[in-house]
Amino acid sequence: MELFKIKDLAFNSEEFLDNIEEFEDLIPIIKDLQENLTYEEINCVGDNDCCSKTDKNYIVEIEGYLDDEDEFYTKEELIQSGANIEGARLDPFIIRVYKCVECGKWIIDILE
Ligand SMILES: [Zn+2]
Repeated sequence: MELFKIKDLAFNSEEFLDNIEEFEDLIPIIKDLQENLTYEEINCVGDNDCCSKTDKNYIVEIEGYLDDEDEFYTKEELIQSGANIEGARLDPFIIRVYKCVECGKWIIDILE
């Protein structure tokens, strides 16, 4: 099942390497933003665990914040709304999606 698509890259539940249920809160967030997202190609340290055929990954990065109620806002949304980022009780929350260039397996990595 396709969960979201970024440019020409489809992200399917079958190719997800972790337990997708642990990330079910994040999938709708990424899906909402998918039209405006893009990806880059990066080399990671060492070959990818999924297939050991390459160290190349596509990476999608979504920089945002969580408020007191764990509601997610992107940096752009906050700037557009005119919110005072410095004064608000917001915790940085960065979602990174890595997808193996070779086999298409992908993971989500969270930076808090
Ligand atoms: Zn792979």
